[in-house]
Amino acid sequence: MVAGEVVDTSALISWPLEMLFGSLASPRQRNELTANYPERLDIIDAIDINWTNPNKENIEKIMHISKETGDIAGLSETDIEIIALAMEYDCILITDDYRMQNIAEYSKIKWRSVNTDGIKDIWKWEIVCIGCKIVKIMPESTTNQKNNLGQCVECGSKLKVRKKK
Ligand SMILES: [Zn+2]
Repeated sequence: MVAGEVVDTSALISWPLEMLFGSLASPRQRNELTANYPERLDIIDAIDINWTNPNKENIEKIMHISKETGDIAGLSETDIEIIALAMEYDCILITDDYRMQNIAEYSKIKWRSVNTDGIKDIWKWEIVCIGCKIVKIMPESTTNQKNNLGQCVECGSKLKVRKKK
């Protein structure tokens, strides 16, 4: 039986344990905790977290949606998995990441923020060169380097993500 909510890593790290009981999370998040917050993981392991992998179909669905909205450039594979879990198990997604909230909103997945108020509208993103202002094609894959999108092939300036008008 699946109860409760899908929690992102910041919820796993900062929420009181009683709020996490019975939550769903991806094994990839567990690995992140192993690497970065081993003491927290010891505590987390004492309660009943449901470490579950989403199926490929749902991962692909979320990948597709995040390409459409342009959020993909700021999302990690873990982020994609977490959203896919919420879709698959029809759970509420708990995240402060506005890109993840954006995808959830776009996909009609219910979400709640960990600490902040969250987004109010659906946003779309585009990548633009800060030098020649040419709008670039969105990358086809996720990235873990949220602030490094590479350089413009035309002029060599840095690229940045901006909200599409
Ligand atoms: Zn340029």
